[in-house]
Amino acid sequence: MRILVTGGAGYIGSHTVRQLLAGGHEVTVFDSLEYGHRRAVPDVNLVVGNLRDIDHVDNLLVVNRIEAVIHFAAYAYVGESVTSPAKYYTNNLIYSLQLLDRCRRNGVQKFVFSSTCATYGVPDAVPIAETAPQRPVNPYGNSKLAFEHALADYAAAYPFGYCALRYFNAAGAAEDGTIGESHDPETHLIPLVFRAATGKIPHVSVFGTDYPTPDGTCVRDYIHVDDLARAHILALDKIGPGSKLQYNVGLGRGYSVREVIAAVEQVTGLKVPVKEEPRRAGDPPALVADAGKIARELGWSAKYDTLTAILETAWRWHKTHPNGFEE
Ligand code: UDP
Repeated sequence: MRILVTGGAGYIGSHTVRQLLAGGHEVTVFDSLEYGHRRAVPDVNLVVGNLRDIDHVDNLLVVNRIEAVIHFAAYAYVGESVTSPAKYYTNNLIYSLQLLDRCRRNGVQKFVFSSTCATYGVPDAVPIAETAPQRPVNPYGNSKLAFEHALADYAAAYPFGYCALRYFNAAGAAEDGTIGESHDPETHLIPLVFRAATGKIPHVSVFGTDYPTPDGTCVRDYIHVDDLARAHILALDKIGPGSKLQYNVGLGRGYSVREVIAAVEQVTGLKVPVKEEPRRAGDPPALVADAGKIARELGWSAKYDTLTAILETAWRWHKTHPNGFEE
């Protein structure tokens, strides 16, 4: 298939692009490189541009005779979305709507969207099934949910099908250690725990120890980035005219912040200095996927089915790329 991947030089995008290329697809990556990395994708596949230049994107759809779009490009810092909602609504919603409409006008009939468990807000119960109410608690989640609604309306009205993948917490790195997580600024727990373990930062903060969870710290469902990437490939195969698909992608098992820190100590053999701090705004106590639907309908299962297996790949990447893609 001829596929346009927006945000394909980012963390999840680059792992997906690699699998698409291995599967024989013709891939065009469109990335602004604001957060993506040139070295995360082959040069021949990369077009540098910004989604705001919708005519640039339109031209790519036409010239490359694109059949499917996988849309990763988005801002994804929850805290920033609270203080700069305009940035999130403009980029994640307006530019996405423009992209969607150019897909419609140019006859692109398959669309895979990077959605998020943040669309569920604070769930009534875990594990969270796809049928759970979607009540985001921050502008990031709102911007993603609004676009899910647009996709559903387009699929109802036009010859068009989509799949929204609601990611839980992506983690880990490619098995061969050549691509992995590299954010600037880095706010995610696992890379920060590695930095604390190796002395690059003095300690890792534990945001909140008084949550209603077994050890008082937040529980999250960590999913290996290559397992997440594979979900996109399976979704593409499944989408047909009128498809309105939504799947959670997670392991279906949660780990607390303290459990993550203990697991990193075990994988690295290093002690992690910890500082207990107040809760971070907007963090639900526990987010764990019910991942049964994607298993049943797409035959998806996680190859990396424990936190330790995920962390081993992340540790290999961290040791060889302590500054991510930056030299
Ligand atoms: N967290 C933490 N210290 C950090 C970064 C994150 O205690 O330095 C916690 C955070 O509050 C959340 C969990 O770790 O409960 C995972 O956070 P992350 O930012 O990695 O992903 P999120 O769940 O926000 O998408």
